[in-house]
Amino acid sequence: MSRSSERELCYVLKSIPFRERDLILQLLSEQRGRFSAIARNGVQSRRFGGTLDLFTCSEFELGGKAIRIAESGEETLFSLESGVIRFAPKTLSKSLEKLGAASCLNELVLRMLPPQKPAPEIFKLVSNTLVGIDEAPSEKALPLVNAFILKMTQWLGVQPALTRCLRCETPLHEAPGESVQVQVAQGAWLCDPCMPGTGAPRLSKSVILDALHSLLHPIRKVEFHADLDDHGRLLELLEQHLQYFVPGFDREKISSIRFLKSPGLLP
Ligand SMILES: [Zn+2]
Repeated sequence: MSRSSERELCYVLKSIPFRERDLILQLLSEQRGRFSAIARNGVQSRRFGGTLDLFTCSEFELGGKAIRIAESGEETLFSLESGVIRFAPKTLSKSLEKLGAASCLNELVLRMLPPQKPAPEIFKLVSNTLVGIDEAPSEKALPLVNAFILKMTQWLGVQPALTRCLRCETPLHEAPGESVQVQVAQGAWLCDPCMPGTGAPRLSKSVILDALHSLLHPIRKVEFHADLDDHGRLLELLEQHLQYFVPGFDREKISSIRFLKSPGLLP
């Protein structure tokens, strides 16, 4: 191998056709984090095979020369010489829930991870979550996305406080009733005695417990007990949480979330 090229294991987050036969890709690698690359003649190319497909993890040979995209920015465009598939999901194309979940993962990484900042733990998280979505039944796709979002908030240092009531500090299992009131702007919840009779959004204690386990355990080990309706509501509130705590999310909604919000409506 020439001195100017190196191999790197990457997930394909996004792919946009460019000119006649080129593809511009957003990739996630263990060492480099999120970065941009161009695959010359990548459209239906035998050289690249399926390595450029979304959600695929491939070992790419990166060309030595990187082009700076914008004069002001630090972003550079690497060129891909060749690739070998290391992981390709098998079941995503057969389930709208799974495809929606995987798309959501990619969109969240693109929006939450700054370019060219090494984040090996996020690479592992994406890898484990994608394998989880691929292997688990479709009903688990939505809870896995919730767990993924919670882990991303943890990584960014903006995770919600879920163990006890924000005001009286009653632990979750001792809070009266089956649900609690969510205080999105505080990233926390309140028990009913602390704030009687308000119209604050509510979440079941069982889905809060799922969320708490998602923060505490590796993503493949989390067991989910709340039902899908509860997880749909959790997803909506997590989206609001991101709007409050992560720059950029207040301006634009998470577009791929719509496939996950109403799982009951899917064919
Ligand atoms: Zn309380």
